[in-house]
Amino acid sequence: MCGIVGYIGCEQAGPFLLDGLERLEYRGYDSAGVCLNTGSELVVKKAKGELKVLKELTKNGKDLHGTVGIGHTRWATHGEPSDVNAHPHLSESGRFAVVHNGIIENYQQLKDYLTSKGIVFRSMTDTEVIAQLLEYYYQGDLIDTVIKVLGKLDGSYALGVISKDNPDEIIAVRKESPLIIGLGENENYLASDVTAILSKTRTIIRLENNELAILTREGVNIISTEKDEIKKNTETIEWDVSAAEKGGYEHFMFKEIMEQPAAISETISPRIKNGRVILDEIKLSDEELRSFTKINILACGSAYHVGVVAKYIFEKMLRIPVEADLASEFRYRDPIINDKTLTVVISQSGETADTKEAMREAQRRGSHVISIVNVVGSAIASESDDVIYTWAGPEIAVATTKAYSTQLAVVYLMALYMGEKLGTIVPEEYDALVNELEHLPEKIEKVLENKAKIQYLASKYFNTRDIFFIGRNIDYALSLEGSLKLKEISYIHSEAYAAGELKHGTISLIEKGTPVIALVTHEELIGKMVSNIEEVKTRGAQVMCIACDDHPEMETVGQTVFIPKVCDMLLPSLAVIPLQLFAYYVASLKGCDIDKPRNLAKSVTVE
Ligand code: GLU
Repeated sequence: MCGIVGYIGCEQAGPFLLDGLERLEYRGYDSAGVCLNTGSELVVKKAKGELKVLKELTKNGKDLHGTVGIGHTRWATHGEPSDVNAHPHLSESGRFAVVHNGIIENYQQLKDYLTSKGIVFRSMTDTEVIAQLLEYYYQGDLIDTVIKVLGKLDGSYALGVISKDNPDEIIAVRKESPLIIGLGENENYLASDVTAILSKTRTIIRLENNELAILTREGVNIISTEKDEIKKNTETIEWDVSAAEKGGYEHFMFKEIMEQPAAISETISPRIKNGRVILDEIKLSDEELRSFTKINILACGSAYHVGVVAKYIFEKMLRIPVEADLASEFRYRDPIINDKTLTVVISQSGETADTKEAMREAQRRGSHVISIVNVVGSAIASESDDVIYTWAGPEIAVATTKAYSTQLAVVYLMALYMGEKLGTIVPEEYDALVNELEHLPEKIEKVLENKAKIQYLASKYFNTRDIFFIGRNIDYALSLEGSLKLKEISYIHSEAYAAGELKHGTISLIEKGTPVIALVTHEELIGKMVSNIEEVKTRGAQVMCIACDDHPEMETVGQTVFIPKVCDMLLPSLAVIPLQLFAYYVASLKGCDIDKPRNLAKSVTVE
């Protein structure tokens, strides 16, 4: 998920590796490291924290000797950020060194197997199994060994591998995680992102899944995992460095919106095996699960809006009363909560002060806490009883998009997992839902493809003073998020209303031309929503609807953006995309500082 660099040439590798890692810093990371092949041994230097710690440790690279090396900035997924968990990872004897982006899903089985063979692991990472497997299967041929090891790995990876026995080679391979090769004169480069090498070369080769590259000083050979030669075209990069940091997008927020299908895949796919949701992270017995009489969800901001969606989903699927609470309010109302209450806390950073304090209060009162967190080793992740990581990768834009979506994905997983244990979901429904969940990323791609229409609608409304969002049930929960997203980045005043509540007050604010965004995805409530839309239209509102494509008649109700039909539970994941894009395009048309909106911070660590 984070950064890889590699160098093989005639110069000292250290300065390039450190420079390349610096250019990848924008991605967010928690530790950094390098490994140099001196010709007779592999020397690793790595450190938790910012790159400057590694620079100090290596005297700005002066202590790094060798013309072949690999480097990494880590964004922890398995094992907290620490010196020992930082990459590169060495095999037991120090023969192989590996840097890895991604997640090895079956690492625990592999680790158990290797441990039973007497291999001693140093780190808590999934990555170390790769280094240890290389050593375990090594019979003298580096390529054969790498191919053999790849056959044992499930999951996603971009890998850089060096071996003491092959001092003039770097091996690179990828599956579902980007990796490129940069071509130079008597020197070649490896990187997970072009930004790292643009100062050296603009001629690159993009590796595809399961292509294996052998880098030497003289050139690069690419073969398949069956060892067939592959001819690849080179590409010339025209972008400047700042564009490259954002993958060619103008803003991180847009990049992160577009990354959502991949992020959701990372979150769900390791947790669905043969049609069953496996949440090993939840360490509650079936009996303990059955003992809960209430679920309490604690969160702030967008994570709280995930909590409001979760309330509808959990109540429907688990038949347990659920309260979604603003963490900043929870502590101060003497909450009724005890060991019969399951608490779920949601926080991207895992450091949100209000959420952390609310979690501690719940624990003091005897409640079991499951956290849904993106940052490994963060305070909430460490202190909660169980943690389910979202694996969205680093989120840079202040306004959350992919963290929100992956938090929702975890809510679906929990609903299915717990529903099966509690017997509140019938098997046919369970199977159908798991199947739909597995196809969710493709459906999200479809919604993203429709962005031109949303851009057009944004161009009609961006000059307005107020915008209203209305919906019922889960669509109401989504309205809250749509409204917040718009306020956060475009500074347009906005209200989210449960559509049935409008006429109890707020409808007095609707006047000629007021934009109203109506979410109409919930099958059972379409009739009621259409009536509420008519109420605002009669008072002059201009209505934009978000509806499912099995209701083409919605085209006549307002200016409608259609999303693919999926089961009710999964609809929020599709319906939120037009809301995010709408906020983004409006803010962009208004010329706002989208990635860093005024007065806001990414991680709110004060109460
Ligand atoms: N899963 C690996 C780890 O936790 C790699 C993380 C990354 O992509 O930075 O060490």
